[in-house]
Amino acid sequence: MTPNDVRPAKPVPVVAPWARPFWDAAREGRLILQHCEDCDRVIHYPRMVCPHCSSTKLDWRAASGRGTIYSFTVVQSNAPSAFAGDVPYVVAVIRLAEGVQMLSNIVECDHDELFCDQEVEVVFEHLDEEFTLPKFRPVR
Ligand SMILES: [Zn+2]
Repeated sequence: MTPNDVRPAKPVPVVAPWARPFWDAAREGRLILQHCEDCDRVIHYPRMVCPHCSSTKLDWRAASGRGTIYSFTVVQSNAPSAFAGDVPYVVAVIRLAEGVQMLSNIVECDHDELFCDQEVEVVFEHLDEEFTLPKFRPVR
């Protein structure tokens, strides 16, 4: 038996009711972002109330799926956890074209060739029947 044999299952997102549309869209391979109808700003992460003007008139709009790497780290080692078998992997803050930031992973890339401000595009990683995760890869 190796340590990988006793690894716990990876946690899945805890979905607040107001974030449900984001995850439903991701399951369909679409990236959507909240938008405030009153102050016309884009919001991420999903909220009940606009963080800019306190409006509750929020809707959803399709996102471009494009952005740039704001910051990233390559995780080279990990304490025993559900993610220990994934090392090395990249955790990044993506600045989406719509102006908001999203924490995700950079995939399908050479870790040594990543850099800040690099252009990335969304890809979707199917986890199970309920969850598909938006991740990003460098634009080729
Ligand atoms: Zn607003």
